[in-house]
Parts: sequence; structure tokens; C-alpha cells
Amino acid sequence: MKNIVIFGAPGSGKGTQSDLLIKKYGLYHISTGDVLREQIALGSELGKIAESYISHGKLIPDDLMIEILDDVLSKHPESGIGVIFDGFPRTIKQAEALDELLAKRNSQLNVVLGLEVEEEELVARLLNRGKTSGRSDDNLETIHKRLDVYKSQTTPLKEHYMEQGKYVAIHGMGAVEDIFACIQEVVDAL
Ligand code: ADP
Repeated sequence: MKNIVIFGAPGSGKGTQSDLLIKKYGLYHISTGDVLREQIALGSELGKIAESYISHGKLIPDDLMIEILDDVLSKHPESGIGVIFDGFPRTIKQAEALDELLAKRNSQLNVVLGLEVEEEELVARLLNRGKTSGRSDDNLETIHKRLDVYKSQTTPLKEHYMEQGKYVAIHGMGAVEDIFACIQEVVDAL
């Protein structure tokens, strides 16, 4: 069983590399961004709350986000085979909650793959995605807010996981296949 966090700034390629990981290793994929966008598309109460944060580039409050993740794990027992967590955790509190959620299921986190990409490249990728994504947060103003939130609230996780010996830096610039080759080396060695 392999539980993997794919970690990195908005636009670092978490979704792209997750797709390749699913194909290769058949793990269960949870993208918290996708879960929230599904709720927005459904027009649910949760979706309305989520949209009010996402469109401003803010994080959904920890307690709510943790409850959502717990719910997804419970509704998908197939996640017991191992999960790629994409977009979670984004705060230290979420990281601590993830440890508890996995422990409750007699499991634990194996590795954090940190996709490291220069900021200029991130902005260019997100603006490019914004041309077709239809996402309310892929515009220049919100992109800058998301990157600020990432720096202040999410980057401390790198240190947190380095202390636990779980963080592996992945150079996230260049060809998608070359980046995946680096990831594969790490995952195969787990
Ligand atoms: P990206 O990483 O490219 O910004 P995501 O799809 O992962 O895209 O997330 C989009 C938005 O969804 C975030 O900016 C945030 O508002 C919300 N979100 C996703 N995951 C979380 C989380 N773990 N905690 C709080 N908010 C989240």
C-alpha cells in the first residue's frame, strides 16, 4: 500500500503527474480541488461555500476541508489500496489531520513528492490554462493571490515533511515524461 502526497504550487503539474501515477500504479486519486469543483458544478451548499473562497484565491477553512476528505475516504473503500493526495494537505493542520485519518484506517503516509517549479513558469502555465479551463481562479489577479497563499500557508509543509524524512524534491520543469521518470524512481523504491 502506498500513500503519496503530490505537493507543489498551483500550476506545478500535480494533476498531470497524478494522471500518470494512476495509470502506472493504479492508486486511488483524490484531488481536493476537483472534489470542490464538482460540488460547485452541482450547485450544492458546500459548492456555494467553496466558490466563495476559491474565486478569491483563498483556502477553504481547515475544519471543513478535513471533514470533506474524511468523507471521501469513507465513501471510497477502494482508497485502501493507497491514495495519491493531490492538493491536500495545504496547511500544517491539514497535514496533522491526514496522519490521523490514515492512522484511523491502519495506514500511513509514505512519501511527499514536491514538484519544484520557478514562479515565472507557474504564472505562465496558469494563464495558459485559464484560456480553456473555465476556472474562476485562473486569472492574473487570483493567480497572484493563490501564489501568496501558497507561500505563506503551504510552503511550511516542506520543512515539516523534511523533518519527517518524507519529502522528496522533484525538479518540475521540462518535459512531462522526464519529470515522471524521476517520480517513478522514487515510487518504485518505496
Ligand atoms: P491549484 O493547486 O492549481 O491551485 P486545486 O484544484 O488544487 O488547484 O485547488 C483550487 C482551489 O481549491 C484552491 O485555491 C483552494 O481555494 C481550494 N482548495 C483545494 N484544496 C484545498 C485544501 N486542501 N485546503 C483548502 N482549500 C483547498
